[in-house]
Amino acid sequence: MSIDSPVTTEGFIELENKYGAKNYKPLNVVLSKGQGVWVWDIEGKRYLDCLSAYSAVNQGHCHPKIIQAMIDQAQKMTLCSRAFRNDQLGLFYKELCEMTDSNMVLPMNSGAEAVESVIKAVRKWGYKCKYIPEGQAEIIVCNNNFHGRTVTIISFSSEPQYKDGYSPYTPGFKLIPFGDAEALEAAITPNTVAFMVEPIQGEGGIILPPEDYLKKVREICTRKGIMFVTDEIQTGLGRTGKMLAEEHFGVQADVTVIGKALSGGAYPVSAVLSNKEVLGVFHPGDHGSTFGGNPLACAVARVALRVLKEENLLDNAAKLGSYFMENLKKIKSPYIKEIRGKGMLIGVELFVEAGGARKFCEALQEEGVLCKETHDHVIRFAPPLVIKKDEIDWALERIDKVLTMSL
Ligand SMILES: *Cc1c(COP(=O)(O)O)cnc(C)c1O
Repeated sequence: MSIDSPVTTEGFIELENKYGAKNYKPLNVVLSKGQGVWVWDIEGKRYLDCLSAYSAVNQGHCHPKIIQAMIDQAQKMTLCSRAFRNDQLGLFYKELCEMTDSNMVLPMNSGAEAVESVIKAVRKWGYKCKYIPEGQAEIIVCNNNFHGRTVTIISFSSEPQYKDGYSPYTPGFKLIPFGDAEALEAAITPNTVAFMVEPIQGEGGIILPPEDYLKKVREICTRKGIMFVTDEIQTGLGRTGKMLAEEHFGVQADVTVIGKALSGGAYPVSAVLSNKEVLGVFHPGDHGSTFGGNPLACAVARVALRVLKEENLLDNAAKLGSYFMENLKKIKSPYIKEIRGKGMLIGVELFVEAGGARKFCEALQEEGVLCKETHDHVIRFAPPLVIKKDEIDWALERIDKVLTMSL
């Protein structure tokens, strides 16, 4: 077996195809470097990244401050486990709570793990505080949701492909239509512990709910005494122009899950935030994670949060996101059915007759713009929030070209 590194794009693709599980269908671009909004492939070609690793690199690729903090912390201590305390964790908690207006944090690693943690927390809260009969707790979620890939989470997915072949599924979940407050009201029973929802459905195709939806949801959850849980793993941390997307709708959830950009893409860090007693149900030994809350993760997350603030990335996402969307709407393309979004999270839905978003993403790749189709017919534009106006103009020129050519 040769240990020589392949030097060509084809060589790397061949290696992945030969040895890797094929649970993704990536564009055939082999990246080796990123800086800010730009990434480079191994042939030296430069691209504007319009995906931001599904909104994990809101602060831009290899942000110098984040990378420096990561190096500094890595040279001091990376992991000591929660069996001991570390000098980063408390500061991380405090700064995160202040920035998100929360009062308790549970640190985890991946988004799915944080969602799993919420499921455990609200169930326990239901049994211990609402005295729901053991085994009966129900959580209400929405059709077209995306909350991660674990067995329990895909058990309440409405996407057949996410579930196919993975049974038996975890019971205890009820699906209702997204954006329909009356359906929520009707679905609640005495055994309901929580309603979990994305303020804007990301993987579902950048779907915005009716303006007053979350306000109604807030009112219903309060009145019925159930936990209102928002999954802001994708919409949070500046992506939509606010720290949390819930702020657009004038509500505060009881529990919020964040991840992705919490580390600026440097390291997996996620967290459950709560405004209520729900995280208080955990006692020593009830739940845990070897890596959750490790000093490296905390140091990286602390600076990633600071960068959002210092560089005004929320305002930038709001202002330039609107600019981006307005100008996308000016493109006269026979393929575009609808353009929608909030801040720097924008979806361009194509007509089915356009033949799928994939080939447009491939054409954009040729032009130096990297993006990814979500579902079959939506192209998501979600560049790092450090993007500048002239870079958006640069992208718009190329998007215009691709969406007006015959493919
Ligand atoms: C990405 C995402 C997740 C899952 O996060 P992972 O880190 O991939 O486990 C959950 N919810 C939403 C809304 C997401 O966008």
